[in-house]
Amino acid sequence: MSRLRTPIPGPKSLELQARRKDAVAAGVGSTLPVYIDSADDGLLIDVDGNQLIDLGSGIAVTNVGNPAPAVAEAVHAQIDRFSHTCFMITPYEGYLEVCEELNAVTPGTHEKRSVLFNSGAEAVENAVKIARHVTGRQAVVVFDHGYHGRTNLTMALTAKNMPYKHRFGPFAPEVYRVPASYPLHDGLTGAEAARNAIAAIEKQVCADNTAAVVIEPVQGEGGFIAPAPGFLPAIADWCRERGVLFVADEIQTGFCRTGSWFASDHEGVVPDLITTAKGIAGGLPLAAVTGRAEIMDAVHVGGLGGTYGGNPVACAAALGAIRTMRERDLNAAARRIEETVVGRLRAVAEKTDTIAEIRGRGAMLAIEFTERTPDVAARVAKACHEQGVVVLTCGTYGNVIRLLPPLVIPDDLLAEGLDVLEGALLA
Ligand SMILES: *Cc1c(COP(=O)(O)O)cnc(C)c1O
Repeated sequence: MSRLRTPIPGPKSLELQARRKDAVAAGVGSTLPVYIDSADDGLLIDVDGNQLIDLGSGIAVTNVGNPAPAVAEAVHAQIDRFSHTCFMITPYEGYLEVCEELNAVTPGTHEKRSVLFNSGAEAVENAVKIARHVTGRQAVVVFDHGYHGRTNLTMALTAKNMPYKHRFGPFAPEVYRVPASYPLHDGLTGAEAARNAIAAIEKQVCADNTAAVVIEPVQGEGGFIAPAPGFLPAIADWCRERGVLFVADEIQTGFCRTGSWFASDHEGVVPDLITTAKGIAGGLPLAAVTGRAEIMDAVHVGGLGGTYGGNPVACAAALGAIRTMRERDLNAAARRIEETVVGRLRAVAEKTDTIAEIRGRGAMLAIEFTERTPDVAARVAKACHEQGVVVLTCGTYGNVIRLLPPLVIPDDLLAEGLDVLEGALLA
C-alpha cells in the first residue's frame, strides 16, 4: 500500500522497541509497537514515515481530531499564561467553564454540579465516594463484562481478571456483580434482563445497603455491548424507587461518540451521577463527575479534589474540544460513520460464518466473532496492523474487533481503512 514505506513495524520503530525494553516497565503493553511522530486527523504518521489509518482514536479519546486546531490553540494560549495553580489553592475561570459545559450537555435539565479529575478511574472512584457519602450506604453494584479502571476500587468494579486484576488483589470490599444485558448471548429483552439483575441485587445485597449502581450505558472493554432496549430505563427506575444512585460511566461512550452527547440520551435515561473522561479534552488528561446539585453539594468542603484535577491546560483543551463538537456537529458525524460502517460490515458478514454480529451505536462499532476465543479477532487485527490500519480488540472472550474512528475522519480515509478490514475479514 502506498501509505506504507516499510514493513510494520519499521526499522526505527523496532529500534525504539528494543530500547524500550531497558527503560519501560514490561507490564505496560502496546497493541501496535509503531512509534508515532505526528498525526493528521484520521492518520498517524510513524517514525519511519508510514501513514497509519487510525480507527481507534487512542481508545475513544481524539474524537475531535488529532491534532484538533481548536484544542491546540487553546492549549498554547493557556500554557503561555500559566500551567498550574491547583484549583484547591487559587482557582481559575477555565475550571468553572468546563463545569458549566458539563452541566449543560449531560442528560437532564435539573440543576447540576461538576468536579474535575485526571483520569477515568479517578472519576469513578469519586462517584462512589460521593454516592456513599450522600446515601450513608456502602454497597456498589456493577455488571458482568463491566470495565471501570485499574485503581484498587475500580479493579474491584471491573469484571475481567486477565489482564486487569490478575494477582493484584486484595480488592476493595462491598462490590457486587450482577448479570448484564447481552442480547446476542442471553436472548433476553431489556425488561427480562433487568428483572434478573434486580432480583440478583435484592437477593445478594438489598437496596437498603446499596449506595450506587455503576453501569456503562454501552459496555466498552467488555465488548461494545449495547443492552437490549428497556434495560437501562428499568434499572434507573428501580434505583429511583429504592433510593439507590444510578451512576452512568460514560467515560468511553461520552462526547458524541455514540451519535448523541451521551449514550444515556438514546433511551432518555437521566443518571444521578455521570462520569466522563476520554473524549472530553481532545487528548489531554481530564475527567469529571457531574450530578444532581443536591447530591454533589452534600459532600463537605475539602472532601473532593486532587493536586492536578481540572488542570488549566486540560480545561482549555476541553473547551476547545467541546466547541469543536458543537461547531462541526460531531453527533451527526458519528451517525454518518455508523451508517457507512454498519452497511459495509453487514454485507461482509453475509459472506462469512466467522462473524456472529455487527453492532454498536454511532462511531462505537464492533464485530463479534462466532468463536468465543481471541483467535479470529487477533488474526484480523494483526492483518489490519500489518497493512497500516489501527484497530483494537475487546470483549470478555477477546473475540471482538472494535472501531472507534475519530469523528472527523475524512470519508475516503474511512473507506480505505474499511477496505483493509474487509479484506482481513474475508481472508
Ligand atoms: C477507560 C475507561 C475507564 C478508565 O479510564 P482511565 O482514564 O483509563 O482511568 C473507566 N470506565 C470506562 C467505561 C472506560 O472506558
